[in-house]
Amino acid sequence: MQIIHTISEIRRLVAAYKQEGKTIGFVPTMGNLHQGHLELVKMALSKSDIVICSIFVNPLQFGEGEDFEQYPRTLDKDAQKLKLAGCHIVFAPAVDEMYPHSKGSGCDQSQIIIPDISDILEGAARPGHFTGVATVVAKLFNMVQPDKAVFGIKDYQQLQVIKCFVQDLCFPVEILSHSIVRESNGLAMSSRNAFLSAEQKQQAAAIYQALKHIESQIHKGIRDYAALQQQAEKQLNIQGFRTDYISIRDVDLNMPETESKKLVILAAVYLGNTRLIDNLQIST
Ligand code: AMP
Repeated sequence: MQIIHTISEIRRLVAAYKQEGKTIGFVPTMGNLHQGHLELVKMALSKSDIVICSIFVNPLQFGEGEDFEQYPRTLDKDAQKLKLAGCHIVFAPAVDEMYPHSKGSGCDQSQIIIPDISDILEGAARPGHFTGVATVVAKLFNMVQPDKAVFGIKDYQQLQVIKCFVQDLCFPVEILSHSIVRESNGLAMSSRNAFLSAEQKQQAAAIYQALKHIESQIHKGIRDYAALQQQAEKQLNIQGFRTDYISIRDVDLNMPETESKKLVILAAVYLGNTRLIDNLQIST
């Protein structure tokens, strides 16, 4: 497995593989890898000849007061895990390589804005977040030139945003999605779980339980979405969380109709200072 830090080197390697007729699968991450990320790599390996995993903590998608500085950076450990998983190339550019514009150079970083969907839910809570995500993913796609890229449904809204701009801006990349990988207690795996104590990790299982409870209520025919959301929020707050939102949406993240057959329940909650997100797709 090779570890590459520059755009010129990744381009050279990819060009050589493409020359040999190999297909490229790509898994973009911010590192501090867990089994969820590795399952994405496995999926990419099953769908393409060469798998590239990027590790880049993207400053552009963090707002002021968010955890950019504290975000865990564990490149050596990540590389070991990726090697064991069968990944071929790790692409870990420095911030200056990704964002070379210096102040006063006459042009600032171009950015990709995806209207509407970027402004709701996670986007409402984290203004500019999805512009940062889309911009870095677009740049990575142009650097890595993958045939396929794998994203986790864990970040449901992010996946929708990426599908939108890939289609709108005609990126020749097939977007594949992977189901949410969970701890045995139901907690969705996340790099941010590293900020939780052992006790908080047990407590955080309540998020998935709250989603499953809403699912069971909907399956019983209860369609008062606002009441279901409020009850779940209240319950989580009693259990020591600070709920940002629990939201029941249709699969395109629009407000659902009473008779909508496919729904997604999305949650964002704080446990201490750690912001955790999760979701559950349901079919009725
Ligand atoms: P991140 O490093 O948090 O930016 O995540 C990189 C990719 O891994 C994204 O496509 C995430 O949706 C995906 N991912 C993170 N956690 C999980 C999980 N528990 N299950 C499935 N995919 C995940």
